[in-house]
Amino acid sequence: MPLPKFDYLEPKTVQEAADLLAEHGEEARIFAGGTDLLVLMRERVIRPKYLIDIKGIEELCELSHDEEKGIKIGAAVTLNQLIESDVVRERFGALWNAANSIADPTLRNRATLVGNICNASPAADSAPALLIYDAEVEVASKRGERTIPVQEFFTGVKHTSLKRGEVVKAVRVPNPPRGARGDYLKWGRTRGEDLAVVGVAALAANSGKIVRVALSSVFKTPVRVFEVEKIFEKGGPTNERIDEAVSAVLNRISPISDVRGGKEYRMHMTEVLTRRALSKLLGVGGD
Ligand SMILES: Cc1cc2nc3c(=O)[nH]c(=O)nc-3n(C[C@H](O)[C@H](O)[C@H](O)COP(=O)(O)OP(=O)(O)OC[C@H]3O[C@@H](n4cnc5c(N)ncnc54)[C@H](O)[C@@H]3O)c2cc1C
Repeated sequence: MPLPKFDYLEPKTVQEAADLLAEHGEEARIFAGGTDLLVLMRERVIRPKYLIDIKGIEELCELSHDEEKGIKIGAAVTLNQLIESDVVRERFGALWNAANSIADPTLRNRATLVGNICNASPAADSAPALLIYDAEVEVASKRGERTIPVQEFFTGVKHTSLKRGEVVKAVRVPNPPRGARGDYLKWGRTRGEDLAVVGVAALAANSGKIVRVALSSVFKTPVRVFEVEKIFEKGGPTNERIDEAVSAVLNRISPISDVRGGKEYRMHMTEVLTRRALSKLLGVGGD
């Protein structure tokens, strides 16, 4: 089916984009890679009259690293650009693996990290990594600017805490604790392109006293399980603590059954992947 008709708008500054959003309200959508947006338009799920393309805004193309502030990922930065970054690969392993797990290289040439989180699918692969790294979302509108902690960004299936007229400028990811190792394990129906049945991002540092876990596809939003952190704060990594952490994760999630997998299967694969990720990062146990 052809795309419905729309007007294509090409602002050159964030201010212009925010002005266009304010002017056209619900009739306009921000257009980044378009890999979610155009699918929904083709299927007539949404019919925006205006698409505001932000890829020509220079400020939004920034991908940079600062020893104090961490990385800044502009809203127009593609997933492939993120994957090509040495600092992301070396210091933000969970984010790098997550970006690599999204679709295929052709799609990642257009798709952005910011589009991935704004689409707010519970299956968004980049979200668990951003949750364990305590990322922040920088937002602008006609009313001014604000920063939203990523922990408060996802509010429901396909819903975010973005207010009407707000455009995301960038995601900031602070440097992880010194010596931290991170991973993202994704379980799909096939080895090829597919959304996750379950995705687990994990981070370990400080001889296993700092441990964080967040998941995709097993709750109404991507979810970080803070209970896991309290378990490892008590002492170093042991098999018993990994068991406790797995139980905490299973108590927190609430998966649905859909075409990708039943609720029971998701619970089982969550257990397998959480244990696998923690065992690997902590060097204890294993399946
Ligand atoms: C074949 C295929 C395979 C896929 N596989 C995966 C996968 O494995 N894992 C996965 O997580 N996703 C997958 N996706 C979904 C999609 O590719 C990703 O979510 C992608 O990162 C979206 O980025 P985008 O730049 O294309 O977003 P767009 O489609 O441009 O935008 C998505 C939504 O976010 C809004 N938006 C975008 N940027 C901003 C901004 N700066 N401010 C405010 N709102 C904004 C748009 O208005 C729109 O509502 C797949 C999609 C397809 C078509």
